[in-house]
Amino acid sequence: MTTIGHLINGEMMNNDTRSQAVFNPATGEATKKVALASKQTVEQAIVAAEDAFPEWSKTPPLKRARVMFRFKELLEQNTDKICQLIGQEHGKISHDAAGELQRGIENVEYACGAPELLKGEHSKNVGPNIDCWSEFHPLGVVAGITPFNFPAMVPMWMFPLAIVCGNTFILKPSERDPSSTLFIAQLLKEAGLPDGVMNVVNGDKEAVDTLLNDKRVKAVSFVGSTPIAEYIYTTATANGKRCQALGGAKNHAIIMPDADMDNTANQLLGAAFGSAGERCMALSVAVAVGDEAADALIEKVTEGMKRLSIGEYSTASNDFGPVISAAHCDKVNGFIESAQQEGATIVVDGRNPVVDGFETGFFVGATLIDHVTQDMLSYQAEIFGPVLQVVRVKTMQEAMQLINDHEYGNGTCIFTRDGEAARYFTDNIEAGMVGINVPLPVPVASHSFGGWKRSLFGDLHAYGPDGVRFYTKRKSVTQRWPSSGIREGVSFAFL
Ligand code: NAD
Repeated sequence: MTTIGHLINGEMMNNDTRSQAVFNPATGEATKKVALASKQTVEQAIVAAEDAFPEWSKTPPLKRARVMFRFKELLEQNTDKICQLIGQEHGKISHDAAGELQRGIENVEYACGAPELLKGEHSKNVGPNIDCWSEFHPLGVVAGITPFNFPAMVPMWMFPLAIVCGNTFILKPSERDPSSTLFIAQLLKEAGLPDGVMNVVNGDKEAVDTLLNDKRVKAVSFVGSTPIAEYIYTTATANGKRCQALGGAKNHAIIMPDADMDNTANQLLGAAFGSAGERCMALSVAVAVGDEAADALIEKVTEGMKRLSIGEYSTASNDFGPVISAAHCDKVNGFIESAQQEGATIVVDGRNPVVDGFETGFFVGATLIDHVTQDMLSYQAEIFGPVLQVVRVKTMQEAMQLINDHEYGNGTCIFTRDGEAARYFTDNIEAGMVGINVPLPVPVASHSFGGWKRSLFGDLHAYGPDGVRFYTKRKSVTQRWPSSGIREGVSFAFL
């Protein structure tokens, strides 16, 4: 069985004694192994990244950007291969994987603007013969730690920008679906990136803790679940590192009585069940304002759910695939069970679906639950599966209060025809990303991505302008060149 190793200083290597199985979630079979990096292996990557830093940080931004132009072309040329690797280990259908890759490529395109992004700021004549300017300097060795659910896109939220900003990078991808991430990193070498600038270490807590505790690592970007995000943020910052740690979510959509119910139901189907609900922006709660809206919505969503098809990644007509593991399948089923126990109505039960030819896969079918309330476990927790819950409220204020009271604040949206209601919602809702008739309001690459409350630890959001700030430190220079012949007197004032 193949063992997936690490990419360190431009070479593939694997000297580790520990490894774990990688599964094809559609069949439930272990198909590969992934090496789990020891402290020593991670330290080799840190040394490689540190050694590559002086030269790379002095490389002009335009030359760094040229690598990203070539990298983008290689990503496009290798789309099928990348989608296949994602499908085999994550399980998402190829059209969904292609969408993820495209969003990743958009971050590479943004990074191609490095000369513009790193221009700095200049003020002439801030005083007599005095000019002041700010420069953006790279930090050094920076690390990224990423989740299983977007093995191509989320790493590309991080390394393209970090690298064009002049840093060297160590990526620790999810150990559950590492192949597409590693393949993408290998393309960077082909694109002309010098060895050591980008390194990938596969592994688990041991690898992560080594990165968090090593003084040579200056900053950490993390995306994953909230308990781990909080641990990463506390440990990294206690060790003096800059850190942004994006966590979990519970994304609500408010369905107003005036919403176009056909469109809303169609949008909800994709946003709730797409990628088997394993998206941090998945819409998992529909808050219907009034029983009439709730009944209409449930009728139309139920109707649409009859047409959904689940199965393996390579069948383009499938809408979504399996969840990531047997344990996660049990967890999602457990939340459906607990909702039932606590008095909610299971309108469509997706537990234990029959998927012809894939009977041993980790499948959960699309599930719709009505009469969910705030006190239920399945409402409070992030389910991360193809489960849409409906909460019934009487007013928009009540709906907004529900969202504002939730511990997570990643994305949210409102379906309405009323501009005034939409504006009020946008102004007063406690979430980092807001949609108006847009169910998955993931910002484009030129804006930044991040939630509020316990969906993000740190100050700066991921990618876009915040990404540039995160991966650089500012130096402000104040310069005076007195005109010859002018004698300056002594001054003790703080001018
Ligand atoms: P996870 O937290 O289990 O793992 C994320 C990373 O942390 C992996 O690389 C993993 O190896 C590492 N890790 C896991 N346990 C660790 C530990 N004890 N110590 C140190 N490192 C550890 O997350 P996941 O299951 O891979 O991904 C799903 C989660 O990610 C969901 O909660 C989802 O909402 C979240 N997510 C958030 C965003 C966002 O932008 N906010 C985006 C994608 C996914």
